[in-house]
Amino acid sequence: MGNAIWIVLEHRQGKPHRMALEAVAAGQELARVTGGTAEAVVVGGAEARAVADQAAGWQLGAVRFVAGEGVAHYTPGGYAGALAEAVEADRPAVVLFPHTYQSVEYVPRLAQALGAALVPEAVSFEQRDGRLVWRRPVLGGKLVAEVAARGEGPVLVTLQSGAFAADQLAAAAEPAPILEQSTTAAADREVLGVEEAAEQQVDLSQAPVIVAVGRGVGKQENLVLVRELAEALGAEIGASRPVIDSGWLERERQIGSSGQTVAPRLYVALGISGAIQHVVGMKGSQVVVAINKDPGAPIFAIADYGVVGDLHEVVPALTAAVREAKAG
Ligand code: FAD
Repeated sequence: MGNAIWIVLEHRQGKPHRMALEAVAAGQELARVTGGTAEAVVVGGAEARAVADQAAGWQLGAVRFVAGEGVAHYTPGGYAGALAEAVEADRPAVVLFPHTYQSVEYVPRLAQALGAALVPEAVSFEQRDGRLVWRRPVLGGKLVAEVAARGEGPVLVTLQSGAFAADQLAAAAEPAPILEQSTTAAADREVLGVEEAAEQQVDLSQAPVIVAVGRGVGKQENLVLVRELAEALGAEIGASRPVIDSGWLERERQIGSSGQTVAPRLYVALGISGAIQHVVGMKGSQVVVAINKDPGAPIFAIADYGVVGDLHEVVPALTAAVREAKAG
């Protein structure tokens, strides 16, 4: 087995997924720690070539572009088949994937086909006594397990959103070579079409700024304060589960263990206590600001900035200050 670290880049419409960039940053760090070589892998049809070209600008030993008719559109069978062929041929030590809806669907199938160990949703790693030890949350984030793969084969690892910072991604001094490989792997579904989701469907995982609201807002009518702050900050609105269960906001705005996992640059938590099921969905945020009237609220333990106060007073003042700063 070689010492290569492959990073499989998820992409859409010729652009890499935000979490694919995080995976590249993780792969580069892993290469430094293990003395291996990081390589990107792009699977897809002609439009994926733009993703391979972009990846060539990052500090990588190579970019592998695995193209073929059967992978022109994503299907779990096509992707698992194409990657199984490629991994069997070159035996990388580790294959990294962003932990997305897509990888959750096909990576277990790939692991099964390869007879490879799979470490899902890893948040960090460490080289210890010559072994690579991965950390991953278990029991809804209450505990963190440390795992090391058994055996010699390639290890497949999916990386939790926000666990590695995309802004740590190192650019290349010289463009990395693009190795074209063709695959005969066949799609296991016929993709009849791919449409943008209806406009009201929000993808909070891509939002750089989120204003999240909890039960502390009191009632649906008070959401106007939250909307005004979100608009001033150019933010998406997220929520804790009670807000969704009360029907005050759409289900796709829920953040947490039974909602979305987000990793914005700025997360503003309004009237959210910081229950573990909420925190697992947003702890990858870079800067957390919490406004809560209870100084003992657990959210303050993970907040970078905290305001102890009534959100009905603090939020309008904050909105006015943001508007003023933008105007000036
Ligand atoms: P609360 O815990 O009621 O907190 C309200 C906060 O607002 C308090 O801290 C209070 O001090 C503050 N407050 C009140 N009034 C004001 C005011 N005027 N100004 C400022 N602050 C004020 N939860 C999620 O969020 N996402 C999930 O995905 C999720 N999944 C779950 C899955 C399971 C299986 C289970 C059992 C639970 C799940 N939960 C989830 C629920 C979770 O356990 C908590 O109950 C929930 O996160 C609490 O939401 P909250 O912080 O908005 O409400």
